[in-house]
Amino acid sequence: MQKVIEALAQQMQADLAGVNSKETLAGFWQTYLSKNGKVPGLMKELRNVAPEERPAAGKIINEFKVQVQAEYEAAAERIKAAELAARNAAEAVDITLPAKTRPMGALHPLTLVRNEIIDAFAGMGFEVFEAPEIDDDDHNFTRLNVPKDHPARDMQDTFYLTDELLLRTQTSNGQIRSMDCMKPPLKILSPGRVFRSDSDATHSPMFHQMEGLVVDKGITLCDLQGMLDELVKNLFGQGTRTRLRPSYFPFTEPSVEVDVSCFECGGKGCSLCKGTGWIEVLGGGVVNRHVLENCGIDPDVYSGFAFGIGIERIAMLKYGIDNIGLMFENDLRFLKQFQE
Ligand SMILES: [Zn+2]
Repeated sequence: MQKVIEALAQQMQADLAGVNSKETLAGFWQTYLSKNGKVPGLMKELRNVAPEERPAAGKIINEFKVQVQAEYEAAAERIKAAELAARNAAEAVDITLPAKTRPMGALHPLTLVRNEIIDAFAGMGFEVFEAPEIDDDDHNFTRLNVPKDHPARDMQDTFYLTDELLLRTQTSNGQIRSMDCMKPPLKILSPGRVFRSDSDATHSPMFHQMEGLVVDKGITLCDLQGMLDELVKNLFGQGTRTRLRPSYFPFTEPSVEVDVSCFECGGKGCSLCKGTGWIEVLGGGVVNRHVLENCGIDPDVYSGFAFGIGIERIAMLKYGIDNIGLMFENDLRFLKQFQE
């Protein structure tokens, strides 16, 4: 029996060497440990052993059975570990590989400029008030001191929708709309799209403005200049100065055009400022007393200032853009340049 077991043990070790997968492991179990396997077969052989030798033979068969079981379990562990290692290797992440980059979006230059203007004025207590893009003649013209047949209506080519409704030609309708629903003192910014029948390198039929309006007791042109000084320093740099020139708008009296010192040449004169050292950036003035009256505000008690900024114009100056059309073509090569 001892010899039979030794031979079987040798064969088992040889078979074990070939066990390297779940399938070969199952074959090993079938050969040695299953009901008809070689180890239970040894038990059956005990019948042929002389009775006095049976206890000793039974003992070594049992020891062999324990050994085979231990080998089987060790092989099972080994295969499980090998499979896990193979799976880990297959699913491994190489952290040294360069990452895939996702293209990042960026804010549109008009949004950047609009946000900068709002930020500058929000610090001075202004709130944003949005007025409708489709409005009536009354809010866009008449109550802004531009009655029907007033020559100032010829200054703007209006898109009329009906006899009364139109696409607003200016964000100034925000002045009337805000005074209709708020009582002074008020400080509002009204940004948005405006529409005029006009198209060339510096004009687009749709463009953006930012209206500003302050109404309170004792407001003068100096207040306007002080706030605009603050704005242009925010937009174009700390050294920027402003200059007011007399102008005419029906809804302000007096009216001014506001120039800033050229941020390109510092005022010496260059192609951007056409040699003058100054660049026109916006219009404004003291709110015309008729406009206040039209909104039920007593012009003998309150006064105010208003201004309108062309957002495209500021963006073109600030970023050196020479064609307004670029703003609306959504060409990524253009828009990518404003990524911060
Ligand atoms: Zn210049």
